[in-house]
Amino acid sequence: MRIGRLDVDLTRVDGSRAVLVGRIDDSVSLAVLADKLPTGAVTIDTDGVTFVNSIGMREWMRLVRALRERGCTITLERVADVLMTQLNLFGDLAKQATIASFHAPYVCPSCGAEASPVIEVGPNAAQLRAQTAPPMPCPECGSAMDLGDFPERYLTVFKG
Ligand SMILES: [Zn+2]
Repeated sequence: MRIGRLDVDLTRVDGSRAVLVGRIDDSVSLAVLADKLPTGAVTIDTDGVTFVNSIGMREWMRLVRALRERGCTITLERVADVLMTQLNLFGDLAKQATIASFHAPYVCPSCGAEASPVIEVGPNAAQLRAQTAPPMPCPECGSAMDLGDFPERYLTVFKG
């Protein structure tokens, strides 16, 4: 399914998992997607989302609201970096869905490599609550990488 500049694949047999790839911007009406998803537990994967603007965020809020009104519980997987920083700006919005995993920018202090690994929330919950990014191994040299941005831009949503 294509909605504006966004490709949407429903990847579970029952259509309860939506994989979004592309841009969430003024070309996208996400309300269309809400109608395609079943009631109950739904999962939205935004690993392939590369751009979100303010109109896109309004569409995202509409989608979340529409799903909640239908009684859905929403799990977000592999939240794109560009969406994660937005969710951290809108605290109430982040509480409407459970973030299972997300991308964050990391840099290696040893070799300077940059990466955007996926961080699993479950096993790192206590650390994330304490507003600390879990250490990630550098894909180039294996040293422990540090978060390459202000923690509040990614971790505010996990505050206890
Ligand atoms: Zn390195």
